[in-house]
Amino acid sequence: MTSQMMAAVLYGKEHLQVEPVAVPNISSDDMLVRVKVALTCGTDVKVFRRGYHARMIVPPAVFGHELAGDVVAVGENVEGFQIGNRVVAANSAPCDDCFFCRRGLENLCEDLLFNNGAYAEYIRIPGRIVRRNTYLIPEHVSYHDAALVEPLACVLRGLEETSPQPGETIAIIGLGPIGLMFVKLAKLCGCRVIAVGRRRTQLSRAALLGADELVEAPAESNPVPTIRRLTSGRGVDIAIEAVGRPQTWHWAVDMVRRGGTVNFFGGCPNDSKVSLDTALLHYSEITCKATFHHTPAYIQKALGLICDGHIAASFFVNREEPLANLLEVMRHLMSHNGHLKTAIIP
Ligand SMILES: [Zn+2]
Ligand SMILES: [Zn+2]
Repeated sequence: MTSQMMAAVLYGKEHLQVEPVAVPNISSDDMLVRVKVALTCGTDVKVFRRGYHARMIVPPAVFGHELAGDVVAVGENVEGFQIGNRVVAANSAPCDDCFFCRRGLENLCEDLLFNNGAYAEYIRIPGRIVRRNTYLIPEHVSYHDAALVEPLACVLRGLEETSPQPGETIAIIGLGPIGLMFVKLAKLCGCRVIAVGRRRTQLSRAALLGADELVEAPAESNPVPTIRRLTSGRGVDIAIEAVGRPQTWHWAVDMVRRGGTVNFFGGCPNDSKVSLDTALLHYSEITCKATFHHTPAYIQKALGLICDGHIAASFFVNREEPLANLLEVMRHLMSHNGHLKTAIIP
């Protein structure tokens, strides 16, 4: 095998370069995977804009975290995988030993190991991720579909944590790929879905995924009165915020019924603050939750949904570009949100 490969290296704020680097060395616990497809992710766009992510990536570093590919080398201690296997590897694995892991909260692991470098010809999968969070892709599933597993696992966990019941009304604020996954999964749960988005194109995508009501909410226009009208004045049973702005966090609280549940799924910019309407939260018994990241169990569940054909890349990925165009792709995704994912082919 050659010793050089092309890879995207993130150098800092809006600064990345696709350039020749050494193919990663693997230790006896690791695997080397030839990336067949890497998907862009809102988190990567955020990291590109800011130049770093305190927990996930510190530049200069190889970049990208949603991928599927073929195993091309295995360390001598690796069990269960061999050269030629089609695999999808999650972007993290928990330690299984800390306070949080022992309580089943592996997403909050004190020593969560993150892996980056999907925008490259080859990626090293560290031993812990090989053992805990790498899976074979069944023959009938495409690399593109399989690569959705990481964001889907976050969404699946977020939805289950809010315990939707069939027939309940759930509002989803924000219709990027994450919001659209919420729409699809909420419909699979038998909920009535009200999709709240800024753009017509996003709303029509939500309709294709089964959303029952569409509420257009351009910036600064408060959709809460419309949501109340659609729910006999009562408000929705569950509101999911999938934007990550303090204003939309407030909308979510304002649109749930008494006894309803809010999930602040979208992470806001650092140092953001929201104020609490104490009377509303207390006398209306509103449950506020926030969910972050995924656990190996949810990665497995999400892969199951993909393998059963419930979730396909065609709804969430609408462009394909060679790795060489990554800088242009990132700039484009940064210029305005509301885009679907781009499949990067190294
Ligand atoms: Zn992601
Ligand atoms: Zn842990």
